[in-house]
Amino acid sequence: MSDKLVMPGEQLSTVEELLPGEGTFEENGVIRAARLGFYIIDQKRRCAQVQPITSIPVIINKGDTVLARVAMAKSSMIIADVIHVIGKDRSVSGETDSTIHAKEIAQGYIKDASTEYKVEDIVRAKVIQTTPSVQLTTKDKHLGSIIALCSKCRHTLVKKGNQLECENCGNREHRRIADDYGEVDVTKL
Ligand SMILES: [Zn+2]
Repeated sequence: MSDKLVMPGEQLSTVEELLPGEGTFEENGVIRAARLGFYIIDQKRRCAQVQPITSIPVIINKGDTVLARVAMAKSSMIIADVIHVIGKDRSVSGETDSTIHAKEIAQGYIKDASTEYKVEDIVRAKVIQTTPSVQLTTKDKHLGSIIALCSKCRHTLVKKGNQLECENCGNREHRRIADDYGEVDVTKL
C-alpha cells in the first residue's frame, strides 16, 4: 500500500514486478501512470493502480485556484474536470465540470482554444464564476497547463524554450503553459 501522488507518464514499476492495472499503461515493459493520482499496489493481484484524486466534497468558490483535467478541447472552449482546489487538503468530489472559454485562456486573442490545451492536460486555473456553471480563467502567467502529455506516446512533455518537447519520441507541441511548467511539485499542491 502506498499513497504516493504520481504524475501522468511517471514510471511506477515494470511488468516483471507487477501487472498494469487501472489508471496505468504499459510500454516497453515499463508500467506508467495514465493519470494524476495516488499510486496503489494491489498486493493480492500484484497489480499497479493509480486512483484518481476524488474523495471528500469540497465547495468551489469564486477566486479559488484549482487544478482541472481537460476532458474535451473545442475551438470555442475547453471542458475540464476540477480535480483539486489548491490550498485545501481534501479533493473535489466526483467530476466537477468546468469550462474555459477561448477568450479566458490568455491575455491576447486566442482563435482556437483547442490549440492551447489538449485532453488530459492538467491546468492550473482561477475560478471566475460558480453558478449556474463553473467558469475558469488562465489569463495570469502563473496559470495554464502544468502537466501535458505527448499526444503521440503519452509521455510527459518537457519545456524547451517556448515549446514543449517529448523526450521519448521527439514530438514538439504547443500549449498555453504556466510560468512554472515542469517545476511543479504535485505533492505540495
Ligand atoms: Zn512522445
